[in-house]
Amino acid sequence: MFETLSDRLTSVFTSLRSKGKLTEADINATAREIRVALLEADVALPVVKDFIARIKERATGAEVAQALNPAQQVVKIVNEELIEILGGETRRIRFAKTAPTVIMLAGLQGAGKTTLAGKLARWLKAEGHAPLLVAADLQRPNAVQQIQVLGERAGVAVFAPEPGNGVGDPVQVARRSIDHARHAQHDIVLIDTAGRLGIDAEMMGQAADIRDAVRPDEILFVVDAMIGQDAVTTAQAFLDGVGFDGVVLTKLDGDARGGAALSVRHITGRPIMFASTGEKLEDFDVFHPDRMAGRILD
Ligand code: GDP
Repeated sequence: MFETLSDRLTSVFTSLRSKGKLTEADINATAREIRVALLEADVALPVVKDFIARIKERATGAEVAQALNPAQQVVKIVNEELIEILGGETRRIRFAKTAPTVIMLAGLQGAGKTTLAGKLARWLKAEGHAPLLVAADLQRPNAVQQIQVLGERAGVAVFAPEPGNGVGDPVQVARRSIDHARHAQHDIVLIDTAGRLGIDAEMMGQAADIRDAVRPDEILFVVDAMIGQDAVTTAQAFLDGVGFDGVVLTKLDGDARGGAALSVRHITGRPIMFASTGEKLEDFDVFHPDRMAGRILD
């Protein structure tokens, strides 16, 4: 991901570096080229507009005019503004004062939510926690079984509905999982919820019911970075319908243009917290805005 954007920006900066002092025309031309590169990478228009405005404002100011190497200074500004767009500081999970910390996952079907639940559980365990994976996606056939397989692979306990014991009621399952976690000394409860192929009121309603029943410490919105501009629309719908504290980008290993990754934080005001980069449990990492910006400008 980001290869095309990265290549485009590299060539913009190469031509900029061939100049000594930068005129206003040079800066305008550079800003125009960056704008095109971002739009081609599928970054949402309002994000591109704000970004370019910031770059232009700073590039025409004293920090560039007085720099020993003006072109280098422009690159530095672009890097700083990219980090800013991506969220600035790395945002960590906020743990509850009294265990268990409840983390709820929400997102469309196919976003990679269940896979992510397994990855996050594995990672939390490696960080020294005792997570409980909860299968509250009772909509998708096999979702419960998928969680059980993932839990086994990750070496993490799974809480799943037993036949005749609240089956079909994800709110009940989620609620009971918290009691179970208290008894079994799990310090984190990780709840997978049902998604659908498109945004729909029933799905939002169910996610909101689970939210109200378990009052999560963190709601993470899981979104496929390959769906382009739709990622922004979907994020907005979940923000309005359920609300969330952080974003997880999945499928960053894809060859898509990556605009979602660059838009979702700015549009929703919620930080990107984790990135999923493949189908295996290990293909997962904490999202670091500075490292991502570095990769784009590499
Ligand atoms: P859910 O419906 O949101 O629970 O989605 P799943 O977790 O079942 O994932 C849907 C599909 O995407 C599965 O085939 C996963 O293997 C795949 N998948 C999930 N995360 C990633 C990722 O980061 N990269 C790639 N390439 N595939 C992924």
